[in-house]
Amino acid sequence: GSTIGIIGGGQLGRMLSVAASRLGFRCHIYEPGAEPPAGQVAHRVTTAAYDDEAALRTFGQSVDVITYEFENIPTTALDILQDLAPIHPGREALRVSQDRLTEKTFLQNLGLKTAPFADITDAESLEAALHDIGTPSILKTRRFGYDGKGQARIMAPEDAAAALADMQGAPSILEGFVEFSHEVSVIAARSLDGAVAAFDPGENVHSEGILRTTTVPARLTASQRSDAVLIAAQVLNALNYVGVLGVELFVTAQGLIVNEIAPRVHNSGHWTQNGCTVDQFEQHIRAVTGWPLGDGQRYADVVMENLIGSDMDRVSALATDADTALHLYGKAETKPGRKMGHVNHIKRV
Ligand code: ATP
Ligand code: MG
Ligand code: MG
Repeated sequence: GSTIGIIGGGQLGRMLSVAASRLGFRCHIYEPGAEPPAGQVAHRVTTAAYDDEAALRTFGQSVDVITYEFENIPTTALDILQDLAPIHPGREALRVSQDRLTEKTFLQNLGLKTAPFADITDAESLEAALHDIGTPSILKTRRFGYDGKGQARIMAPEDAAAALADMQGAPSILEGFVEFSHEVSVIAARSLDGAVAAFDPGENVHSEGILRTTTVPARLTASQRSDAVLIAAQVLNALNYVGVLGVELFVTAQGLIVNEIAPRVHNSGHWTQNGCTVDQFEQHIRAVTGWPLGDGQRYADVVMENLIGSDMDRVSALATDADTALHLYGKAETKPGRKMGHVNHIKRV
């Protein structure tokens, strides 16, 4: 069988590797950090930095296609890899989604609604942006933020200096606070030949910036549900995308507002493992290897619950729950705020 190169060795890479293995593929993980969760299940692991040219070359030569579970891959690494194997999703998807300013500008150019935003470079530009956007608002680093890291809320203009200091000099954007009733996401896929398939939107609950639960079905009207899927399809087509994409949306009285896109399998799509015949991980593997997409039809109601930090204490109790599927990531060390696994609570429909 052929070999899939996966950049990033976290739980997403691990679950991609398992799905790939079920379809007869081998996976080669490239991950700078030691003891990656994906390394326990993949065929081969390279532990090397993203600026290690020799390691990148060996990796690229050993695989038939390259994908990733992590969007912050340096451009210099992609420059080396792109001559060695096809990279799916492509570089445009990475370029757009690596930077919140580029991402929001791209979404606006598609005619999609986003929070009002402004590029922040210093105290003056922040003051001007606060004048236009007002408070409450959120200052976010343009790059590298995840799980709510690199964000500071500005409740009143007096908070501006402290919020700017939190950015530690990193380029940032100010976003107006969106008054949403709830949050949903769409996990959708596009194949090499341009076919698009979407899973049913999930409803997401975050606390302290981290996803806690995803519930399907989401509370959406039929027209909101189709709007959500159409937004995802529009993004996929605009990027000539190949693979699975996550689109996070705010539900408001003024319609759906796009929060952000993730050019990869997404935490809010983990429910598909126990709610669909073909889950998001297999769907992604199918797309990047040129297979036809699977059917994303949902056959159960699901509540996906992340197991974060000390939630791991509940594992033995959860293991005796009927209709609960456990997914653990094999991480050596439990830390507060670290995603250790998730469970899917199923109700057959
Ligand atoms: P992820 O782990 O999803 O990549 P992230 O660090 O990129 O997270 P965001 O998705 O931008 O962060 O924000 C995390 C959460 O904070 C959102 O899901 C939402 O609950 C809240 N949030 C972010 N931006 C806004 C906004 N402009 N208005 C209201 N709430 C917001
Ligand atoms: Mg994000
Ligand atoms: Mg997010």
